[in-house]
Amino acid sequence: MNKQMTATDVRIDGFGGEIIVPSAPGFDKARAVWNAMIDKRPAVIARCRTADDVIAAVTFARAKNLPVAIKAGGHNVAGHAVCDEGVMIDLSLMRGVTVDADRAIASVEGGALWRDVDAASQEHGLATPGGLISDTGVAGLTLSGGIGWLRAKHGLSIDNLVAADVVTADGTLVHTNAEENPDLLWALKGGGGNFGVVTRFAFALHPTGPEMMFAAPIYAVEDGPEPIRAWRDFLAQHGDRVGSLCEFSTAGGDDFPKESWGKRVYTLACVYNGDAAEGEALLQPLRELGNMVTDFSGRMNYCEIQQLFDTLMPAGDFRCYWKARYLTDLPDGMIDLAMANAAAAPSDNSLSSLWNFGGATAKVASDATAFGDRSMGWMYSLDGVWSNVEDDDANMIWSREGWSSAERYGHHGRAYLNFPGHGEDGDALTRASFGANYQRLVEVKTKYDPQNVFRFNQNIPPEF
Ligand SMILES: Cc1cc2nc3c(=O)[nH]c(=O)nc-3n(C[C@H](O)[C@H](O)[C@H](O)COP(=O)(O)OP(=O)(O)OC[C@H]3O[C@@H](n4cnc5c(N)ncnc54)[C@H](O)[C@@H]3O)c2cc1C
Repeated sequence: MNKQMTATDVRIDGFGGEIIVPSAPGFDKARAVWNAMIDKRPAVIARCRTADDVIAAVTFARAKNLPVAIKAGGHNVAGHAVCDEGVMIDLSLMRGVTVDADRAIASVEGGALWRDVDAASQEHGLATPGGLISDTGVAGLTLSGGIGWLRAKHGLSIDNLVAADVVTADGTLVHTNAEENPDLLWALKGGGGNFGVVTRFAFALHPTGPEMMFAAPIYAVEDGPEPIRAWRDFLAQHGDRVGSLCEFSTAGGDDFPKESWGKRVYTLACVYNGDAAEGEALLQPLRELGNMVTDFSGRMNYCEIQQLFDTLMPAGDFRCYWKARYLTDLPDGMIDLAMANAAAAPSDNSLSSLWNFGGATAKVASDATAFGDRSMGWMYSLDGVWSNVEDDDANMIWSREGWSSAERYGHHGRAYLNFPGHGEDGDALTRASFGANYQRLVEVKTKYDPQNVFRFNQNIPPEF
């Protein structure tokens, strides 16, 4: 198998999707993922339409002894969705969502984006917790946890995953739910893409919106950390109803007053998980914590909230290196550190954030999902985002050193595996993050993927 093959050279028995080989005109577009730093060239891109196509693609890859990468939304910053010289199973044609409003369940194809789920669910006044950006893939986000605005009341995305269909390494379509193959469902709840290609997810839905309260007062870093401290203390009381993050960024563009352009700022972004009017009243004090640079707060529809941050992060335009670690608490020292790191960011496009937990997220037992311990109070993420190759080192060092500098506030050395840098921390970080669940994950991996066919992920090697 080599890169010069034409489409007619590649026959995948039983495959009804699109085959894209390196000589095809659309190849470069099809192999591109969200992070512009990733430049990998698969031998074949198998763009699937059905679960049968996925079975055919996995069977083909096994027969040719080729590595397999799985792409849903393509957002993984480590670029795990694409590989060199292997088969890239691309699910971007499998974005269907059907909602059973009576049972409050969404059935979601493996390549769907969060905007697909939100739109279909909101037609019935329902939603399930997704991420903050609407073009992130449901699959990658869910399989490593899924942290979104609704976590206060409804937990992580995995906490709402009730069933899945998975094409495993031997080319079998395995159905999993609480009764059938429950070990696999458990492992999918945080264990990443290690166990097979998920062709369908089923999520529990909850009455949501349509109108909700989004608060986003913005303060200047130069004015000090007092508003962040007040926000932290506020969330200690209301974290069971408010999904929130304090996001550090650089002011600029028409939405900001001209005199603030170029200033480092932070947004105390909050979504009240409940009635919009009640939320507006409850969140009002966060808008009175000092001189605001500006205020993006308002009541809006859930789908709008889910797309508010999309323009901050346009696909394919930026080079990225993102890392996140869980924090036990958020003491003043950690807030000061986050302020200092934000001020030192080499790129104005970079972001860093403090995310709250608690609420429904914290109510799930450590061994109930592969994800593990829920007693972390917070998460600190550093999203290095820049444009030029010559700035790679400075920006990667900023994210990495910022991440390391927070280690003393960390939660048992655990990291959010959906913000994995470029994956260079490997096994040690994966083990620490899963904690006591790691050995059970190895057992499930060994059962469903004994040859480690699915290894482009935060890999859990099987026992050989
Ligand atoms: C702009 C942006 C915003 C983000 N915001 C959030 C956020 O708010 N909350 C949050 O929790 N995370 C967030 N993330 C992180 C995000 O969860 C991860 O990047 C995740 O991997 C993206 O999923 P994807 O399907 O788009 O990725 P892809 O790159 O397509 O896939 C990532 C990996 O997931 C696995 N995978 C994908 N599809 C399947 C499948 N069908 N079956 C089995 N395995 C599969 C594979 O291992 C694959 O390599 C964000 C990322 C970006 C770039």
